[in-house]
Amino acid sequence: MIGFRETTTSNAGTGRLALAAPVAGPRAIDFEALQRAARDLLRALGADVDAESLRETPRRVADAYAELLTPQPFRATTFPNEDGYDQLIVARAIPFHSLCMHHLLPFHGVAHIGYLPGERIIGLSKLGRVVELFARDLQIQERLTTQIAGWLQRELEPRGVGVLLEAEHLCMSLRGVQKLGAKTMTSALHGLVRDDARTRQEFLALTSRTTHEQ
Ligand code: ZN
Repeated sequence: MIGFRETTTSNAGTGRLALAAPVAGPRAIDFEALQRAARDLLRALGADVDAESLRETPRRVADAYAELLTPQPFRATTFPNEDGYDQLIVARAIPFHSLCMHHLLPFHGVAHIGYLPGERIIGLSKLGRVVELFARDLQIQERLTTQIAGWLQRELEPRGVGVLLEAEHLCMSLRGVQKLGAKTMTSALHGLVRDDARTRQEFLALTSRTTHEQ
């Protein structure tokens, strides 16, 4: 009998993840420099950085960015598909947040993930961790979508994978002409989810309901 397989994944950049995520984000955060930069930013914005109410702000800003850009390591445990399950497995509306690399403002929303299992399956709770692994980075939504799908493709070697993200970008909804609440949709489809019309339709039907209809 084949045992379960575990891959420890972290942003330390060893082995698989180095291949999985050629990320532009800071792999090692210089906390002191981050605080100095936050203080400089406040000063450039015309704030009195020595005011009592702002004294701790650079440290808080540094804390916040460090947290937003640091995914938790996790064990991506996969299991043999012993029962030969051959239907789509779909996890809908996994919440996530990330940081837009163009404006350093958050974007947030939900991820819908589906895969058609091959030899291995993954615990459903791990799908959220996979999303977080790539979301806690300086990102654009398109690349985040592609990275999640690519990770599942490599780790599970499924017969098909679909990843659909819908997110609100604060850099769009708080600036310019975009309305508050406007959503950006991105998708990455592989294998039978892309190439087989029925499977693709099933995936889209299971995931395209709005979050209000959960
Ligand atoms: Zn942006």
